[in-house]
Amino acid sequence: MAVPSASLAAHTPVPGAYGLFPARSDEDAFIVDTWAELAPRAHAVALWGGLIFAAGMLADYLLAQPSVSWPLLLLVRATVLAVGLRLAWATRQASPADPRGLRVWMLVFQLALLLGQRAVVQLHGTASSYQAIAAVMACLIIFTYAPMVRPLQLWAMPAWVALASLQMLGLLGTPPKTVLVFVMILGFVNIVGWQLATHNNRSQRNAWLDRRRLQWEVAERVSAEQNLRHLFEASPVPLVLAGQRRGRLLHLNRAALDLLDPRRLLPDPNQLSAGDFYADTQTAHMLTRALAHHEAFGPVDMRIRDSSRRVLDVMVSARKLRYDGRRAVLASLVEITHRKRQEHELRRLAHTDPLTALHNRRGFFLRAEQARRQCAPAPLALLALDVDLFKSINDNHGHAVGDLVLQQLAGRLAAALREQDLLARIGGEEFAALLPGLDAAQALDAAERLRRAVCDHALRCQGLRLQLSVSIGVALIDGARDDVDGALARADEAMYRAKQAGRNCVEMQAPAVVPAAEPLSQVAGASTLAG
Ligand code: GH3
Ligand code: MG
Ligand code: MG
Repeated sequence: MAVPSASLAAHTPVPGAYGLFPARSDEDAFIVDTWAELAPRAHAVALWGGLIFAAGMLADYLLAQPSVSWPLLLLVRATVLAVGLRLAWATRQASPADPRGLRVWMLVFQLALLLGQRAVVQLHGTASSYQAIAAVMACLIIFTYAPMVRPLQLWAMPAWVALASLQMLGLLGTPPKTVLVFVMILGFVNIVGWQLATHNNRSQRNAWLDRRRLQWEVAERVSAEQNLRHLFEASPVPLVLAGQRRGRLLHLNRAALDLLDPRRLLPDPNQLSAGDFYADTQTAHMLTRALAHHEAFGPVDMRIRDSSRRVLDVMVSARKLRYDGRRAVLASLVEITHRKRQEHELRRLAHTDPLTALHNRRGFFLRAEQARRQCAPAPLALLALDVDLFKSINDNHGHAVGDLVLQQLAGRLAAALREQDLLARIGGEEFAALLPGLDAAQALDAAERLRRAVCDHALRCQGLRLQLSVSIGVALIDGARDDVDGALARADEAMYRAKQAGRNCVEMQAPAVVPAAEPLSQVAGASTLAG
């Protein structure tokens, strides 16, 4: 069957009065498309009609031989047989090379058969009743069984009845009464046959149109699906379609494959599930929860691993849908690894002192709060350190030397602290240190260690030997109650007291705010360790 054209929706022919399409081109298309149904019927009518008509030679021989009409009868029957065989041969072809040929040969055969029959009757010179019965049968067969592919085929039958009636009356001298009966019977057969033929024509052509419409719709759907598939494949955004229940991957577009399996290590990604790409169980739980409660979610940032186990940051948006009758999830993954790195770097810079590479004030507060929460309810010590008479370094040796001194100081302080301690430069020549898990005595020891780390050995800087010292204020944080802000204020206040006490010494926070558990006498006694 021919492929339906895209213009079908615009051009859908309607069968006319004879049940045929008014336009020849539509008829041709119908013949070509329904050849498999039309051809066997035309073939049977042509072959058997021609052979049966030719077989009448036997009757001719018995009735007409050896009269002069015998060769003529032979010629008539041979001609009809030849036309029948020609049509039978034409309908033997696998497909109609020429649909017009079928139309012509069907009509020629029909006319040959009907005229041949009249010629036989004429040559025998009698219109017997068996010939009338044969005429009725020929009418019925032609109307109902022979494919009607042009209007003249229909008109051939009534024309033939009229011709036969005139022939009977005029040339054969058949009694008018007999002719009348013949006309009535054949007329009735013609009316019924005509109705049947036009009805058949119309229903065959409507069925063909229905099939064509269906084919066209299927082709439309296939094309729409191909377009969608193409869009899915060609989308520059990585798209993943996965089953909702087990997360089995149903489809990945090219961009998703490039993201998840850039080196094409996976033999068949569709055998995997979405969970095989999660970087951590937290991500998996987050997704499962989101999908359980929402039709769609995102965009959310997630970490995944590609086929070579490389961790990637992606921004995921997902929506639940039905696919092939199953519940599925369509997700878009936008890689943001680079952006995440930049964000991380910016955050790090925002929290880092560029001169010493220590945390700056903002970074210190952030990390100190985190440490306090993690340690709670264990205590922490907070130390505020200020370089003594630092201004004189700048004044005597220049600002650049002052910077180098600050860098070296940072190194010395860091080296004197434990790994879990937090050191920051929170102002010009001011440092802060957070030491988790220390009580008052241990905090004073640590502060003293720091003070010594600075003053025990002079700094060497650009050929200079610089003797420095720091004043340190110590505050204790009750991990469950205090905040870092308040503790730093207390440590600062203690540090100023150390300055007032002559610098290069350690002072503990004011006794009034020392947590009740600490014996005040013990802390006050250790308040000034060096001067
Ligand atoms: P003290 O604290 O013992 O009272 O004396 P000080 O001289 O340290 O006190 P002050 O706070 O007056 O001086 C701090 C000096 O630190 C002032 C400023 O020039 C210097 N300073 C602050 N930030 C920087 C910096 O980033 N680089 C350099 N080279 N100097 C800085
Ligand atoms: Mg200062
Ligand atoms: Mg100072």
